Formats: sequence, structure tokens, C-alpha cells
Amino acid sequence: MKHLPVFVEVVNKIVLVVGGSPKAARRAAMAERAQAKVKVVSETLSPEFQDLNTFQHIAREFCSSDLEGAIIVYVSDFNKELEAQVSFEAQKRGVLINVADRPELSSFIMPSIIDRSPLVVGVSSGGEAPILARMLRSKLETFIPSGFGRLVEFARLYRGRLHSLISNSTLRRRFWEDFSDGIVAERVLSGQIDEGKEMMELILRERESNPSERPKGEVYLVGTGPGDPDLLTFRALRLMQKSDIVLHDRLVPNGILELVHRDAERLFVGKKRGDHAVPQEEISRLLVSFAKDGKRVLRLKGGDPFMFGRGGEEIEMLASNNIAFQVVPGISAGNGCAAYAGIPLTHRDHAHSCTFVTGHTKDGKLHINWKMMINPDQTIVVYMGLNSLPTFFELFIEHGGDPKMPAAVVDNGTRIRQRVVTGDVRTLPDIVEKASFEGPAIIIIGTVVRLREKLSWYQGSG
Ligand code: SAH
Repeated sequence: MKHLPVFVEVVNKIVLVVGGSPKAARRAAMAERAQAKVKVVSETLSPEFQDLNTFQHIAREFCSSDLEGAIIVYVSDFNKELEAQVSFEAQKRGVLINVADRPELSSFIMPSIIDRSPLVVGVSSGGEAPILARMLRSKLETFIPSGFGRLVEFARLYRGRLHSLISNSTLRRRFWEDFSDGIVAERVLSGQIDEGKEMMELILRERESNPSERPKGEVYLVGTGPGDPDLLTFRALRLMQKSDIVLHDRLVPNGILELVHRDAERLFVGKKRGDHAVPQEEISRLLVSFAKDGKRVLRLKGGDPFMFGRGGEEIEMLASNNIAFQVVPGISAGNGCAAYAGIPLTHRDHAHSCTFVTGHTKDGKLHINWKMMINPDQTIVVYMGLNSLPTFFELFIEHGGDPKMPAAVVDNGTRIRQRVVTGDVRTLPDIVEKASFEGPAIIIIGTVVRLREKLSWYQGSG
């Protein structure tokens, strides 16, 4: 990010516009809408200025004293040298400046906006791709009901009262979330403000007579998929945006965490390098105690919570404490990585079954049913197997597996830095060692790996 998104209050402050072009007129009109004192310096004005009301026209060439007292300057003139001169003078005095279509002369850029005053949404591509930002803006336009400004205005009327009625900020947020989905908001959006007010009075009075009522907490055990945020489910996203606290670990990348409600408290419970993870029972105890506090607790898990994720253990304690929970499945690393590596897990000509195993060792030993593994007609997917890969393959051959069986490792699957290497059971350990993967990584064994030659589609940048 190279630009700080801020909304500047300009009521009764001087906004200087240099230039008389139609673009300058649009900038001046926007500043007028925000109740600024608009001064326009230009010898001539385009007809678009006729739509403006209160601006002061200074009909001469720009001189640097025009900048005095201004907090913002917009420039859009046909004279390119003048634009550069205003930019130089403004930056010298620390006045924020935007020169239309000349980012190199500007200290701020203009976002595309959706105006549902008092709600305003600004979309910016940092000046890199304004057309894409504008396209996104049009999409957002269709999502935000036209009466949304009314709704914000309505909420403002009750803000103070709500504040004294519900002192806990989490509970207050919960109230407003329920409000925005509820019947009162529906009325306000459809313009029936008086009915909305009556209903709101009823709700508030009920609350006033029963102020200590605590909402019940619950836990959402949510699978986030292997890393690409686009692989989240709709339900995962919805719950991520209404949680009060989130517990996450290493497998959940930042791109996904950023989608969690901004005010939600974040608690890292994973293992940092060389450090110990929060023990499983402790995590379960935390989930119970946050939920008992009335919080909506989000437990994010990489992939699917029930695939080598110990999700089952985490909710056992919730169930025995009678705490409400939901489990949201996610795309597991096995199928996510297979898809992004172009390796179908089953295929009529190659594999009729697929087995998921863990390469995690207990007391230095792998716990694998080798009889089940040695079947050329199946695909084997090994989770947590990078460290034990040489041993796994050695034992695979020792138990009668084909040393020429194709195999692949997918590192950072579905993410930008995805890397895939292929070989066979005999050659892959060396290839993997040279690749020095950072993980997470998954192993796929079976003749389906050959299909990647034809079906590979995802490049990443790894
Ligand atoms: N519940 C998770 C698995 C947790 S076990 C799921 O369903 O995917 C952790 C292992 O998952 C890692 O050691 C690795 O083998 C695999 N894994 C998770 N994310 C991965 C990714 N983006 N790329 C490759 N392997 C991944």
C-alpha cells in the first residue's frame, strides 16, 4: 500500500481549484458538496461551472499566494507548465495536491466513490489501474442499496442512547449487526422511517427493561482451504465477518486473516519457529471460556477442520459444555493442491481410489498400514510428510512398492508461491532436498502424477 486512505473534513475550509476545465468543475463540485469554501483560479471557466453554487471565482492567472490557507488543491489545466508550478509550490508549503491525470505531480489521488451520504465508499487502485477501480465501484454500487445513507442517518439518531444502554462494545456491535439485517433496517431502506422509529422504540424499551440479558456465545470451526482466499466458502466468509475473536495458526495465511472482521480480536495459537504451539487442551479451554463470555468465537483452520486438523478434539469439549457450534468444511490441502497442480486424484485409467495418510512420526516412527499402500491402482496423498519423505519412500519400496511409481511434492499449494516437483519414488527425495521447500507441502504418489505434464495450468510465481 502506498496511499493512506483517509477522509478529510473540509467544512468551511478552503479548497483551491486551479484551472477552468470540465474536470476542474467536477472536483470543485465535489468540494462544494463536502461544504468546503471553494476558490477557483482561472481566467476562463468551462460551462460545467454553471452547475456550481457557492464558489469564489478569481479570474486571473494563478500566483503562489493563492495557496494561503488552503488545505487541498486540485489542478486541472490545459497549461502543463502551470500544473507543474502549482504542484511545486503546494508541496513546498505542505498543502495536499492532486493534479488530474498526473500522479507524478500529486501528493494524493482521487478514489472512485460511491456516495450514499453520510456513507461514502472510496475505491482506489493506488493510481495503478483506475479503470479496474471504477469497474469495482460499479459492482459495489449494485450491492449497496440506494437508501443506505438513510439507514446510516437513522442509526446516528440512536447512537448516543445505545451507548448508554449497552456499555459493552462487543454487545453494542452485535446489536448493530442484528439491526442491519433486521426488520427495522428493512423499513428504513424502503423509506418507511416512522414505522422504523416505532419498531426501534419497542426494541429499545424492551432492552431497557431487561438490561442484563447476555447474548449466548458460540463457536465457528471454519476450514479456510489451503491458502488461496478465493477458495473460501460463502459461509466461511460470512462467519469470519461476524466474529468477535479469532484463534488461528500458521496454516492460515494473512490474505485470509485480512478478511476477518477488522475489530475482531486476534489470537495466534500456532507454533512459531522453534517455539511450542498452544497445547490442544488449552485451545479447547479457550474456545469454551470465550463462548461462555458471550463471544462469537471463530476458530480458523487451514484446509478442512476434520482432515488431520484435530477439529474433532476441539469441539468435543464444546459439546460437553453445551456450547453451540458450527463446523464449516474447507477444501483440504489434498484436493486443493491436486487441482492447482493439475493432478487428478482419481482417473479411470489410473486410480480408482485415493488414500489420505499422515507422514507425521510418533517416537520417530511412521504409523502406516503398508499393505494398504502397495496398490498401483490408487493414489496416496501424504499430509505432514516432508520431513519423513525419504523414510516413507524407502519403506514403500521395502514393502513391495514400485520404485518407478511417479510422485510429486506440492509446496505452498494454491498460493502465489506454489512450487511443484515431480519424479518417482526413487528420484524424488534428492529433487526435494535440492528444492529446499519451506512448506506447507504435500506429497502425491501414483500414476496420476504423469497427467500433470498435460494438465498443469496454475503457474503461481514460485
Ligand atoms: N486440515 C488441513 C491439514 C492440516 S495438516 C487440511 O485439510 O488441509 C498440515 C499439513 O497439510 C501440512 O503439513 C501439509 O502437508 C498440508 N498442507 C496444508 N496446506 C497446504 C498447502 N497450501 N500446500 C501444501 N500442503 C499443505
